[in-house]
Amino acid sequence: MERAFKFKLLPTPKQAIKLLNSLDACRHLHNAALEERITAWKCCRKRITYKMQSKEIPEIMKAYPEFKSVQHHVLQRALKRLDRAYAAFFKRIGDRKAGKNACKVGFPRFKGRNRYRTLEFDRTAFSLKGDQLRLSKVGTSKVVLHRSIPKEAVVSVAYVKRDAVGDWWVMFSLELPDAPVRTPKTAIGVDVGLLHLATCSDGTVFEPVRSLKSGLKRLRREQRRLSRRKKGGTNRERQRVIVARTHRTIERRRSDWLNKVSRKLADSADVVVFEDLRVKNMLQNRCLSRAISDAAWGELIRKTTYKAEGAGGMVLRVKTQDSSQECSNCGRMVQKDLSERTHRCVCGTVMDRDLNSAIVIVKRGIGKLQGIVPTFCGVSHDCAAPTGGTPGRDACGETGNTAARAVAPDLVEAGSPPF
Ligand SMILES: [Zn+2]
Repeated sequence: MERAFKFKLLPTPKQAIKLLNSLDACRHLHNAALEERITAWKCCRKRITYKMQSKEIPEIMKAYPEFKSVQHHVLQRALKRLDRAYAAFFKRIGDRKAGKNACKVGFPRFKGRNRYRTLEFDRTAFSLKGDQLRLSKVGTSKVVLHRSIPKEAVVSVAYVKRDAVGDWWVMFSLELPDAPVRTPKTAIGVDVGLLHLATCSDGTVFEPVRSLKSGLKRLRREQRRLSRRKKGGTNRERQRVIVARTHRTIERRRSDWLNKVSRKLADSADVVVFEDLRVKNMLQNRCLSRAISDAAWGELIRKTTYKAEGAGGMVLRVKTQDSSQECSNCGRMVQKDLSERTHRCVCGTVMDRDLNSAIVIVKRGIGKLQGIVPTFCGVSHDCAAPTGGTPGRDACGETGNTAARAVAPDLVEAGSPPF
């Protein structure tokens, strides 16, 4: 299992200058390599590969002394990055032609100053002892280890990044041994939304953080100030940092909350079931796109997934179709528009609309999982041992329907949500 750990890096002023020079060298190399690829294609329809370009590095280092202060592998990885950007570009083009993706496809860009921020050091170019990180041709600087790196982890790459504010960070890419997969016994369904970030099938509700909404006023003010500053001036640079800091605060607030929510979700059951949302399509709704981005559902699902997998659990995604219309108790379709917050069915089920969705989602998840793990019933008691149940029934003798109800027993039967 691959994970990334991010720490603050504290280079000395001299080291910071070396790092900045390295960034600049890599940026120039990136731009030159991109130009070479474009020209070769335009004039003689020739494809330049990573291999061809990386062979030229020793010559470049000879011809331009500023490249000598950068480690060979760091330059190589800068070229590799461009190669990846190319591959990703053609993949997106292919996806678009195949009709999988209707997004605009951007070509790899030339990078201006402030647009190239990351250096990649591979295993040969760095070493970490305690909180001291030695980077080849830069020196040894302190890392703020706010969490410990697991002893069994294999650190493969260190990404050194300068953020828009001007702070340095190091991100380690770790290879961790896979956690033993738990036999799934409990499941929880999660309905994500704008009014509540997440409504779980057990009745728990997580509010959205709305970090952009709360920071928008300040962000707008600072951006207005930035637009008034003279281009190239000291004051503009100072204001640019203030805007970057505002963005960073918004981002951190969101990330913090999503980490807390995803941790609770991942710990609450062996299987967490989400809807398979097409967030990109939903963002085309211009009235809601900002609120949807701010809610960051995709990020919530991503964070929950790696947290669950790290603990031997799993995250399932099920089809969203009609999950808000279907009755969680009897399966009838109850048509309602977005403004209707309560689900009322002729079978007597009355509950919050999102809670109903969450229960429908967990049922679909349980159904999907029973195809993979036939003994799974979704109830929080030990029923993993097969007892020779009839086909279509769980090992413990319960059907999928009652299983889902058992996840939220009081709610369904009491007929009213606890909030
Ligand atoms: Zn019903």
